[in-house]
Amino acid sequence: MIRRSAHAVKLAILDRDGVINQDSDTFIKNAEEWIPIPGSLEAIARLNHAGFRILVASNQSGLGRGFFNIDALNAMHRKMRRELSVLGAQIEAIFFCPHAPEQDCQCRKPRPGLFRDISRRLQIEMSGIPVICDSYRDIQAATSVGALPLLVLTGKGRKTLSQHRDDLTGVPIFDDLAAAADALLPT
Ligand SMILES: [Zn+2]
Repeated sequence: MIRRSAHAVKLAILDRDGVINQDSDTFIKNAEEWIPIPGSLEAIARLNHAGFRILVASNQSGLGRGFFNIDALNAMHRKMRRELSVLGAQIEAIFFCPHAPEQDCQCRKPRPGLFRDISRRLQIEMSGIPVICDSYRDIQAATSVGALPLLVLTGKGRKTLSQHRDDLTGVPIFDDLAAAADALLPT
């Protein structure tokens, strides 16, 4: 069980690709390619039912690179929300960076812009908030705002673990979102 700091609200921030849905080296470009990782939607439902508000914070540089447009992204998110609603689950808000890397924005993780945005919009301190992710850049972004990164081994997670093992001291590691979620739930 992960002990959250005493003042932390019941909120968890999830990366999307490689955490909720299967990732692809060629980007997730449309709703058909958006395929949930087994057990991930049920894990969000368990968190919801335990009183957690769930947010998504996701780099979507495929927009800035021109691989898909905002209509396609909205269709992916409609599919995600529809499949969650069947389980009585919901994501409160989806924060995404639409920029390509060369646009040098402040929101593309590992920069902290998305988390600062969440903090401002929800009037919530990021300190101790669990951030469930599969990439080292997500861990860097979460750490830089004082959040609590949890690494899952789905998506890029195994690669992250092998490439950054020495930098992951103190970062809890789980097989997948289902296992990470269970660690956040009261026993
Ligand atoms: Zn951005």
